[in-house]
Amino acid sequence: MATRFDAEHMLRGAALRVTRPRVAVLAAVHEHPHADTDSIIGVVRGDLGEVSTQAVYDVLRALTKAGLVRRIEPAGTVARYESRVGDNHHHMVCRSCGAIADVDCAVGDTPCLAASNDHGYEIDEAEVTFWGLCPTCATAHMP
Ligand SMILES: [Zn+2]
Ligand SMILES: [Zn+2]
Repeated sequence: MATRFDAEHMLRGAALRVTRPRVAVLAAVHEHPHADTDSIIGVVRGDLGEVSTQAVYDVLRALTKAGLVRRIEPAGTVARYESRVGDNHHHMVCRSCGAIADVDCAVGDTPCLAASNDHGYEIDEAEVTFWGLCPTCATAHMP
């Protein structure tokens, strides 16, 4: 299975030992972008059978630390994870249903990292969240 192969490959590339929980969690995050921890636990359990909540949390922490997954936490929502890392893309969040969509930075460039005044900081990330209503909710809210 392609995803599984990729997950193992990614773990090795990050010098992480390949374990079934790590492969399962990485695959779950990859297949369900912006999933929260509960959803990821559900997917991993469906895949591996009984896995402790703590084990999944530990794996998510290790994968995040290794840079294989990115943890996002828009204000007022639970933490979510995605395997799309390293491109400083942004997120659009629906105020009504919480749906999250990716918003690209310019490809190959990160113009928003060039702050108009960097105050001497070495900037490595710009977190931009766009808030509004997704198309489904916008339609539902129409008079
Ligand atoms: Zn919505
Ligand atoms: Zn994203």
